[in-house]
Amino acid sequence: MKFIQKTDPMEYLPSQERIDSDIMLKVLNAHKNVNFDEFNAFDVQKALDKDNLNLRDLQALLSPVAANFLEEMVAKSKAIKERYFGKNIYLFTPQYIANHCDNNCVYCGFKVGNDIKRAQLDENDIIKELKNIAKTGLKEILILTGESQTKTPLNYIANACKLAKEYFDIVGVEIYPLNSDEYAILHDNGVDFVTVFQETYNPIKYGKIHLYGNKRVFPYRFNAQERALIGGMRGVAFAALLGIDDWRKDAMATALHASLIQSKYPHAEISISVPRLRPIINNNKINPKDVTERALLQVIAAYRLFLPYANITLSSRESAYFRDNAMALGITKVSAGVSVGIGEHGGKDDKDKGDGQFEISDNRDVNQMKTAIKNAGLTPVMSDYIYTGI
Ligand code: SF4
Repeated sequence: MKFIQKTDPMEYLPSQERIDSDIMLKVLNAHKNVNFDEFNAFDVQKALDKDNLNLRDLQALLSPVAANFLEEMVAKSKAIKERYFGKNIYLFTPQYIANHCDNNCVYCGFKVGNDIKRAQLDENDIIKELKNIAKTGLKEILILTGESQTKTPLNYIANACKLAKEYFDIVGVEIYPLNSDEYAILHDNGVDFVTVFQETYNPIKYGKIHLYGNKRVFPYRFNAQERALIGGMRGVAFAALLGIDDWRKDAMATALHASLIQSKYPHAEISISVPRLRPIINNNKINPKDVTERALLQVIAAYRLFLPYANITLSSRESAYFRDNAMALGITKVSAGVSVGIGEHGGKDDKDKGDGQFEISDNRDVNQMKTAIKNAGLTPVMSDYIYTGI
């Protein structure tokens, strides 16, 4: 493996496609210049009274003073969610098909060199798992790998997606960033959505926690959603890993990034996830730190008010209690029946399974999640998507 330690995180590698886009510059300027302490109650109230929020309104809603308006923010978030999505809550599950990784991200259990059990599903394992997951009634699946182009090359992932499309209406991927022609190959193999977490929008911190591997290249990762849309994807998803750096700045940058992509590609479906750091194997120092559940609610409400039409996904990293309450307040999509290890959907015997990336808090299966959604007065939805093969 070629390490690129100590290279400039803002420099592309020769194989990485550059696209003509000014979105990163705009987001990094906002990230650098925002001062959340300059906002007051009047700014927050003004943002709450508006229908179309600008960047300053978003910043006001993420400021410390907005914590005093959390109840109003959440109430408005709930109303907006109901206006555009009704009572629907969409369900999906992740399928981890491999946990090899060539990167060294200090906060992740999959990082190269970490002493975990590595595994990879072969075609038969994948089919076995897809069948088991499909039996639960789910129609949407998210295929995930660690980030190893050598162990899990594009053709391996594309084949897994092609198989997944036989069992699921909607297939998403969360894999290493690709060039646009490579995204087109995945799209040709049935992929609808691409998720790329930027982790943090602070380039200096980004360089400090992504020690080597292709992921160290900040701008290539940043522009992945645009390349995915150029490659024909129907939708793209964004997230910062809240708690890695200043969560207010990272949440603001995530929402701005998503909104600028939405303006430039109006046909694209936009999703935002709200992951917080979770403990990982072999590192007891990695925890969510200052991102409290109240802070997470503030982020969810700010996202909903700023991007009324975007999906917001809440993963099984969060507790069942928090998820049950947050679902009504702006969330549109939740995971169910989640296993983060490799082969845990029945693809491998116990001795051959691979370790998971992080701990999950909510272990409920699909039926239990459907019941929880109904108990919250909402409607579980598996899919509202008709695939035409185009
Ligand atoms: S966060 Fe992703 S790229 Fe980084 S070590 Fe983990 S799996 Fe690899």
